Amino acid sequence: MNSPDADDALAGDPEVAAILASELERQRSTVQLIASENFTSRAVLAATASVLTNKYSEGYPGRRYYGGNVFADEVESLARERARTLFGAAHANVQPHAGASANLAAYLALVEPGDTILAMRLDQGGHLTHGSPVSITGKSYRFVSYGVTPAADDGSGERIDFDQLRDLARTERPRLLVAGTTAYSRVIDPRPFREIADEVGALFMFDAAHPAGLIAGGAHPSPVGIADVVTLTTHKTLRGPRGGAILCGEEHARAVDAAVFPGLQGGPLEHVIAAKAVAFGEAARPEFARYAAQVVGNAAALAASLADEGFRLVSGGTENHQVLVDLRAFDPELTGKEAQEVLDRAGITCNRNQIPDDPRSPFVTSGLRLGTPAETTAGMGEDEMRAVGALLARVLRGRSDERVVAQVRSEVTELCARFDPYPASERASAVR
Ligand SMILES: *Cc1c(COP(=O)(O)O)cnc(C)c1O
Repeated sequence: MNSPDADDALAGDPEVAAILASELERQRSTVQLIASENFTSRAVLAATASVLTNKYSEGYPGRRYYGGNVFADEVESLARERARTLFGAAHANVQPHAGASANLAAYLALVEPGDTILAMRLDQGGHLTHGSPVSITGKSYRFVSYGVTPAADDGSGERIDFDQLRDLARTERPRLLVAGTTAYSRVIDPRPFREIADEVGALFMFDAAHPAGLIAGGAHPSPVGIADVVTLTTHKTLRGPRGGAILCGEEHARAVDAAVFPGLQGGPLEHVIAAKAVAFGEAARPEFARYAAQVVGNAAALAASLADEGFRLVSGGTENHQVLVDLRAFDPELTGKEAQEVLDRAGITCNRNQIPDDPRSPFVTSGLRLGTPAETTAGMGEDEMRAVGALLARVLRGRSDERVVAQVRSEVTELCARFDPYPASERASAVR
């Protein structure tokens, strides 16, 4: 799809070609509501599939351990320059293989093993790399966790609990304060974190894995220049290839670079770095600001339609690209696990998610997390989001009736045919 040559070559491996063709068809014919996913441009796909995958480039531009790095240097310098310009950062490291690697590198750069870090608890909306006991982060540092305020009937609750955060910062004296969430539907203002970090003499890291694209597009406040270090993923709202990046001021640049390589990683993925350069370039265009605003508008429309259908929304609604749904008010028997499975059969792809203080386990859950970045890229607007909300409610209500599931599946197919992220007419070949 992205490159005719690659398609021809893959024709020689029909097994893999068939799997990729099926995956393309799945992405085109079902609604993608996973909040951390997106559809990249063909340019991003083309760079990811390029011959830079052949090159070893340990080190940084101008300081490589191997020869033959003229063009790897050029592409990585370009990616760094575009990232700095896009986010207004003094320094950018574009080598982290993923958001998790970016976070690990930031910890390695800023604190020592065993040091205290204050971050959001996983079951309150935080990420595994914010100190979960099953993650190396939780094994290597002493994490203390903050959460959100209790739910309130008027929708004013379930916000980051800054009173608790300040109290914990004063009693635990962390070396590092971490902001950033994976299941949280509100704007995160970096300033109160900075104030608290300054009061207790801690450093401040903002994990922008989810809102990076909203920040780049001007829809959310930027933590750059406020946080000491900002980590991000390039594949979520930012709509680039799967990967990570780190932004910081000059004072942390050497420590961050040394932490990524040789501290944590070996050779960088220069083909992915080329694709990151493409994505940073795309995100700097005016269309991307319109996209970011539409992602937020679409999430608000989806949230409103779900509230009309009788769902309770965690925090009462959304200000970003995601909606966290509490299924219990809609149907006390319905778990996140069952809802995800029914929706999958109806062609609506999303993930079960714990809600704050969820009585059910992370495998079962009482919630669903929905997101609008991918389908907004495919061209859906607020009308379509309301239609998706109604389809979702209809199939969950009628989940024991196979005819309802089949009817919704067919309406989903019709909807997706009108909003194809990779129209066949634009594809170079039918193989992928
Ligand atoms: C997604 C995410 C990450 C990790 O990104 P990966 O690329 O999956 O490793 C880190 N932090 C937060 C808050 C995230 O949402």
